[in-house]
Order: sequence, then structure tokens, then C-alpha cells
Amino acid sequence: MWLTEAEVATRHGRPWNPSSVRTILTNPRYAGHAVYQGKTNGKQGVWDAIVEDEVFRLVEAKLADPRRKTQQGTDRKHLGAGLFECAKCGSKVRSWSGNRYRCPNGCLTRSQRQIDTLVIKTMRERLSRPDLAGLITPKESERAKAASEKVKRLNERLERIEADYDAGDIDGPRYKVSTEKVKAELARARLTQVRLTTRSAAASTLSAVDPVAAFDAAPLMIRRNVVDALCSVKLSPTPRGRKTFDPNSVDVVWREHP
Ligand SMILES: [Zn+2]
Repeated sequence: MWLTEAEVATRHGRPWNPSSVRTILTNPRYAGHAVYQGKTNGKQGVWDAIVEDEVFRLVEAKLADPRRKTQQGTDRKHLGAGLFECAKCGSKVRSWSGNRYRCPNGCLTRSQRQIDTLVIKTMRERLSRPDLAGLITPKESERAKAASEKVKRLNERLERIEADYDAGDIDGPRYKVSTEKVKAELARARLTQVRLTTRSAAASTLSAVDPVAAFDAAPLMIRRNVVDALCSVKLSPTPRGRKTFDPNSVDVVWREHP
């Protein structure tokens, strides 16, 4: 578990496990909802949401979805897959068997664990410095809201088509054509929604009262966006047979922000 490896303590000082992370990600308190007798009362809490509301809902839906184990795409398993670069050829590394990163051109194959630990430690250190304010503004949040609205509208359209079919207003073939069209549109809109919401959440993480806590509590896809917003990570090949980890083989290059 990356949180334990990066020496992040839980609230009770115990090591992290999947259920403590699940508890945080599905706990409405962390999305800033006031909780009364174990239920949300729909009112926003007085504290700042460390997990943005929209993201909280997406994560909640994802954890509750029994198909999520087989879902691909926006939900990557490793921090640096498709994000960290090969220092030799500049390609983005991919996940490889045995928890490793591999350059698609074969320049390197390296264990993920120590690389991820180093990157997370470097990120937490950077996020703990006070000069983050205003670095990136959550300007994506308006577009993310518009994307959520679109998903809502398409869902409503789907429900109407189903109601029309149930009422006998449209026949089978027409029902099939209509629903397939809306479903395809809905799938595209959902992807856009997740992409924009993730970006906006990364911006929120950076502007949070406690950016380190926000980063720790954020789902992997948001942590990836935060890393991407702040730096590029370049991995160098290590000499064959080398057993010890060389921190100099991982180069964190901070992005220039005007
Ligand atoms: Zn390469």
C-alpha cells in the first residue's frame, strides 16, 4: 500500500490497508458533508471538502460497482503508468508484469515500488511548502459542472425513451435505435465528465487548506493529475545486475509556472 510505504500515518497511527482507504474515500465527511447519526443530512459541512463533491460521488459509484475490477481506461492501477517518462527516449513507461515499469522501446524495466515511494515523498514535500497558492486555479470546475449536467440530461432522455416504450408509444426497433444512440453519447459524456472532474479535483487538491492531506486522501487518478500538473518524472535505465535503488535514477523535473 503506497500510503504505508510513503510513511503516511492513518488517523490512529496504524498502517494503511485497502479498507482504511475505502473508509476515507466513501466517508461523506471527507467530501465536506455534514454527518448526523451516521447519515448525511444533505447540508454542506463547515470544513473544506478535501475530496471534491463530484469526485466523491464518482469514486463512491465506482467502489459500489461490481464490474469495476474489470474496468479499464480512466482507472489506472499504477501511479506512473502512462505518466512517467523514459529518460533515454522520452516515451511514457507502461505497467509491466511483476509490478514494474517498462519503456515501450525496451530501454528499461524497473520495479515500481521504490520509484513510486520516492515520487510520493517528493510530492508531499513539495505540497507542504506554502508557495502553492495560485499556482493552478480550479478553472476547470465550470466545464466539469457542464459535463455533469450533460450526463444528467442524457440519463433523463434514456429514461424518457424507456417510458415511451413501456407505454407503447414507440415500437421495438425504434426503441433499440434510440437507446443505442443515447447510450453511446452517454458513454462519451461520462468519459469527458471523469476527465474534467479529475483535472478540476487536482486543482482543488493544490488549493486545499492542507494540500498534503488532500493529496493523501485523493484517488489514484487525481494523484496522477496532481503529479502531472507539478512535474515530469524521468526514469533512467539502471545497470544490469544492480540490486540497490539509486535515487538519482529518478529525476523529478518541476514544471515552470508563469
Ligand atoms: Zn525508452
